[in-house]
Amino acid sequence: MTTETDLPCADCGTDLRERTLPAHTLLHPVEGHQYLTVADCPGCEARYYPDDTVTVLAEVLGIQRPKGGS
Ligand SMILES: [Zn+2]
Repeated sequence: MTTETDLPCADCGTDLRERTLPAHTLLHPVEGHQYLTVADCPGCEARYYPDDTVTVLAEVLGIQRPKGGS
């Protein structure tokens, strides 16, 4: 099974390095203690978000989005 973090960087082809970061370092308004997985490129510092992380971010943003926002 291939996960996003097994793929090389789309920009420079360097193998990505998986990291687990507290959610609030990705989205500053987020409070709580959730940890999310990201994939950083050691070559060009691009950052990739695996599907699971994107799902969590979307959920968090959905919860925190103010009523009647843009
Ligand atoms: Zn790269």
